[in-house]
Amino acid sequence: MSDTPQVPTADGTLPPLGILIGGRWLAGDEPFPVSDKFTGATICEVASASKMQVSDAVARAQSAFLKGPLQPYERSRVLDRLGGLLASHRERFRALMVAEAGFTLADADGEIDRAIITVRLCAEEATRIVGDTVPFGSQPGAGGRLGFTIRVPLGVVCAITPFNSPLNTVLHKIAPAFAAGNPVVLKPSNLTPLTSALLCELFLEAGVPPDALALVHGAGATVGSWLVEDQTVAFYTFTGSTRVGAQIQQGAGLRRTQMELGSIASTIVCADADLDKALPKIANAAFRKAGQVCTSVQRLYVHEAIIDEVNSRLAHLAGSMRAGNPRDPDTRVGPMIAVAEAERALSWIEQARLGQARILQGGTRDRAVLQPTVITAAQPGMRVLEQEIFAPCVTTLPFRDLNAAVADANATPFGLAAGIFTADITNAFAAARTLRFGAIHINETSSARADAMPFGGVKASGFGHEGPRYAIRELTEERLITVN
Ligand code: NAP
Repeated sequence: MSDTPQVPTADGTLPPLGILIGGRWLAGDEPFPVSDKFTGATICEVASASKMQVSDAVARAQSAFLKGPLQPYERSRVLDRLGGLLASHRERFRALMVAEAGFTLADADGEIDRAIITVRLCAEEATRIVGDTVPFGSQPGAGGRLGFTIRVPLGVVCAITPFNSPLNTVLHKIAPAFAAGNPVVLKPSNLTPLTSALLCELFLEAGVPPDALALVHGAGATVGSWLVEDQTVAFYTFTGSTRVGAQIQQGAGLRRTQMELGSIASTIVCADADLDKALPKIANAAFRKAGQVCTSVQRLYVHEAIIDEVNSRLAHLAGSMRAGNPRDPDTRVGPMIAVAEAERALSWIEQARLGQARILQGGTRDRAVLQPTVITAAQPGMRVLEQEIFAPCVTTLPFRDLNAAVADANATPFGLAAGIFTADITNAFAAARTLRFGAIHINETSSARADAMPFGGVKASGFGHEGPRYAIRELTEERLITVN
């Protein structure tokens, strides 16, 4: 059993990988294969954690919690060191993400750059965890008292993560949890466990106490469910589908959770938008990471006066983005996470085509690679509009009245993020007030994100926030102390 994942060898393979408990890599139960998402070849066998190992990981995390966390300045230093280690292991992260997630070189580098920022922000926030002073003098009879709040760690945090951001999304969970003083048990997606393994190795090297971080691999239905059943876990931080999020929430009961769930993200382009600036951003936000980003532009509302121009220019941009081998530096769109997922997305596009929608660009597939696809003239009820496609596919929808576009964007069950391009500040703010999403980006797409900002959805897109400062509020509890 290898202790940590190295860069795949010339034949693209890695030695078998174990699970991490108490600072040691252990053999587990039945191994599962991890494939290269472009070639389809198995690159690594990864051990699944047994039920007993899951329980041991949580128990050790609880004993680390009871021992008490490192001091804030020590946590900050560990995170600083981790940031340096991420930068110095860029090559390994890049190779792993290109292989197991199908990321293009640019997608992988973007993920690593952002991960380094996320860790730096967490290192800063670790030393700024403060409460409030209570204004006792505001009420008769209490003026002699003093009161203040402190924020204290919650206990064992369980992080369950998806396949589509195997480094930065994992960090957005485990780094704020550690910054806040909580031990963590991580279960990454079975599709992309190798990046998490390297990340946890570096976290240990940076100085995290061995029992304060465990990595348990395995299927959500088994390992994930055991984690949810374990009553010692105090908090679940989850990113993934709405369906699985609802299951975890049901199992969590009165325990607290943070849910970053599914989405159908919309962006609106008004007639006065600066298309030279907007369209490259839209193409990038629709097709990068093969469209497998929760905020990817899926519905593009375009004012009817400019829809022909937008359709033609967007189709041209999509056609000029090379799709294929993610190791080729010219490739802009890599494979989707599985051939079956590309088939599923293509079947939705076919449904739209049969229903008289027009496929302006793309709509073809080679194994897991779906060509960047632009659809127009789609009708209500088509899956490309009504369900989260999570593929490099955007559908343009004409509008005459901005209020109608806003109402239509609001009519999905989801509410993660939306964007609006306009030169009219009154329209921009009117839309921002009425679009029911966790974030509205003016003159950016739904997919605009800076790691420092609060990030989270409403409705079926979940609740709670990522973004180190905001996540730390979720990952601590406020305790009142008064003195008479
Ligand atoms: P997923 O199928 O929901 O899986 C997410 C994680 O949950 C995986 O680690 C999975 O394990 C685990 N899991 C599955 N069943 C479980 C159970 N019963 N109990 C506990 N854990 C369980 O999501 P995905 O396909 O990986 O990711 C795509 C989805 O994530 C999309 O819907 C996307 O919108 C959403 N997402 C949302 C955000 C956001 O910020 N709102 C960001 C990124 C992605 P295995 O798969 O390994 O079995």
